[in-house]
Amino acid sequence: MATTETNAPAATGDPRPTAYAELTGLLRETAVLASASATLAWDQETMMPPAGAALRADQLSALTALVHERRTSPRVAELLAECEADASLAADEVVAANLREIRRGYELATRLPTSLVREIAETSSKALEAWRDARERDDFAAFAPWLEKVVGLNRSKAECYGVPEGGEPYDALLDEFEPGMTSAEVRGVFDALRAGLAPLIADIAGASRRPDQRLARVPVPATTQSELARRVLERIGFDLRAGRLDVSTHPFCEGLGPGDTRLTTRYADEGFVDGLVSALHEAGHGMYEQGLPKAEHFGQPIAESASLGIHESQSRLWENMVGRSRPFWEWALPEARRVVGSALDGVDVEEAYGFLNTVDPGLIRVEADEATYNLHIMLRFDVERGMLGGDLPVRDLPGVWNERVKQDLGIEVPDDRRGCLQDIHWSLGALAYFPTYTLGNLYAAQLWEAVRAALPGLDDRMREGDFTPLLGWLRENVHRHGRRFTAPELCRRATGKPLSPEPLLRYLEGKLRPLYGI
Ligand code: ZN
Repeated sequence: MATTETNAPAATGDPRPTAYAELTGLLRETAVLASASATLAWDQETMMPPAGAALRADQLSALTALVHERRTSPRVAELLAECEADASLAADEVVAANLREIRRGYELATRLPTSLVREIAETSSKALEAWRDARERDDFAAFAPWLEKVVGLNRSKAECYGVPEGGEPYDALLDEFEPGMTSAEVRGVFDALRAGLAPLIADIAGASRRPDQRLARVPVPATTQSELARRVLERIGFDLRAGRLDVSTHPFCEGLGPGDTRLTTRYADEGFVDGLVSALHEAGHGMYEQGLPKAEHFGQPIAESASLGIHESQSRLWENMVGRSRPFWEWALPEARRVVGSALDGVDVEEAYGFLNTVDPGLIRVEADEATYNLHIMLRFDVERGMLGGDLPVRDLPGVWNERVKQDLGIEVPDDRRGCLQDIHWSLGALAYFPTYTLGNLYAAQLWEAVRAALPGLDDRMREGDFTPLLGWLRENVHRHGRRFTAPELCRRATGKPLSPEPLLRYLEGKLRPLYGI
């Protein structure tokens, strides 16, 4: 990674900092404030006593306002314009990428009028309450007016951001989470993926062979599971001196800044596999955070992830491609036996492998297996675009949802609680977030093909519990670049090809057909 002067005075002997140094200095200070806010958010999910909630809300809203004010300050605009006018700066790739992304972030943060930002915040907090209640009582009609409001506000948001030429409003929203990707591109890849998944899932449904599910019931105390997760994380390369693993209701990863990345997982009373797999997922996010060039560029876009889809690709790669593979379990099972003890007597690698790769079409997205998960996402992508574009009136959502689940997964939706009311995202005001999950799976599979071609001995290394070549490849080809390239460009550079559904289909076919004997 080329380094750039960030705080040096101008070379002419002028004691004033250059516009670029002043700009990156301001961004660094803002990032420090934002990281304080992230630390409080982490604490809220892991340590905070329940009675601290009101104070925490005040602390977070004060810091959020401060961060927003600094990010959108006129001084940032002046300095940015000054830098953009200085042709000599464009010669440095890192500086050029930073300026491009600072401009993008500034536009995103300032294009929405304050009145709309306030309306979105107020609606989301009421919609969240309405959604919790509606889901509890299985009452879609009670949530529908709120969903209509959220869709309407997102329409206004898209208008403010500006719909690209020849594009659709969804593009403007998607750009916030997955810059460089259009909904037409996503649709093309998703449609091909769906067409390829349908026969595979139908064949699995008709298979006579079923993996043993005994591992779901092995009782393992949470402290033992935590000990195992920690050992595995250490071995795969998550730096615990620069990070932590704790417990929260919903697992997450928070990269606070240089030297501090927080992970959480949760441990069920029975079975140790879910807690471990979820720790692997979060560690994938965490190792990406630890591999970003934050030490020298904290606060600059270049030190941030390329997109949510790329972030998710790192978690899915470690969770699925590594954590559900035979070579990984050839190393991890003896390790697990040492920590867990006699509860694992009689369990062999084949049993663990079969259990971890069970395909079982279900109603709930977050419980879905690797193959059917993407169908849940594609359904959400299609109904979001329909609602935003006006082709799908909100009142028709449950009918369309249930029909699609029947068609794609072959199951009846018994109630909206387990249907279109199951996810929190819309009630938080977010549309166009869902596709990033499947984009993550697609990027992960494509990176996995590339890394396997580059490292032919990878399986043997994993069997020995040596993950350094894999992490080294990811550091070199993905992590160190930060946001230097857009996600599609990063994918082309790392894999030699544009994003395609084929690697994910090949990976799932190659794994699941032999497992199910089909
Ligand atoms: Zn994730």
